[in-house]
Amino acid sequence: MRELTYVARRTVEWREVPDPKLRSDGEAIVAPVAATPCDVDSAILAGHGFIEPPFALGHECVARVVETGDAVTSVAPGDLVVVPWSINCGTCDRCRAGLTAHCATVPYMAMYGAPIGGSWGGLFSDLVRVPYADAMLVPLPAGLDPVALASASDNWSLAWRLVAPHLTARPGARVLVVARGSIGLYVCDIARALGASEVLCVDPDPEHRALARDFGATTAETLEPLPQSHDIAVEATGRVDQLALALKCLTPEGICESAGNHFRPGELPLLDMYLTGVTLRVARDSVRAHIPDALALAASGRVDPGKVVSHVIDWEDLPAALPEKHLKPVFVRAGAGDGS
Ligand SMILES: [Zn+2]
Ligand SMILES: [Zn+2]
Repeated sequence: MRELTYVARRTVEWREVPDPKLRSDGEAIVAPVAATPCDVDSAILAGHGFIEPPFALGHECVARVVETGDAVTSVAPGDLVVVPWSINCGTCDRCRAGLTAHCATVPYMAMYGAPIGGSWGGLFSDLVRVPYADAMLVPLPAGLDPVALASASDNWSLAWRLVAPHLTARPGARVLVVARGSIGLYVCDIARALGASEVLCVDPDPEHRALARDFGATTAETLEPLPQSHDIAVEATGRVDQLALALKCLTPEGICESAGNHFRPGELPLLDMYLTGVTLRVARDSVRAHIPDALALAASGRVDPGKVVSHVIDWEDLPAALPEKHLKPVFVRAGAGDGS
């Protein structure tokens, strides 16, 4: 089979590798049917990652189950499933506490789409081995579109985590979103749906801002200091200066979620944070624990993640199209895993 391999800045190519095989009776083999780059993949493709190529890329997809081991009970061949970005066993203390990104059974940081914590391949591959099928795979609810929810593996469900619990704790809060990709737009959609009184989306890209306005947000091209203007801030830029500005916009005891991959160092306004008593959470998130909630919100019809899908492209065009398409291109494979 082929796996899409990141080989150099702005360059990916198919590489032939052996088909994955079940290694125990709790595993599954799945065939991605709709896969999309995580926002961090765009940074990697632009040459901003910290891992030397080559490596198999991709950690967001909806897949069809092709084969399951005898002990697998939650999914069966033919099912459409969300494949979470991180590898987790489901039974260790951390997994049972919901800390699926920190599973103690597998090498630390084990994930698809980057060779850290072992080598698990990428989800831009013709076939994928899922080592703990019952713990990892989440059936896609009937009626949900695999293209719209290809990002449920990571960015869509992460966006739910970044804002939904905080809006439950602070109904009607004002939400600041500082972003430059899909995560920020998903957060705008979810925040509005869950009753935020105001959503301000700061994104340098005019097309992103137009989408944010579609989701009911007001928009700005750059973030100006707006002291004590927002109760919740979500930063997803990977830039510490932007995170620092977002922190300065918070009301007393406000909360800031940082989902940016901060590959570069920087300084935070710790004295301001101390004086306003803000909480900053920076996390490589345990998304698997939130996928069911995020899918339930999508199934409610109150949100429209499909609006963020920027292009729908044939699977065969991955090598040429992936480095060129931005925001949320979804690569689809007709007939994958259904025997055709
Ligand atoms: Zn990701
Ligand atoms: Zn575990």
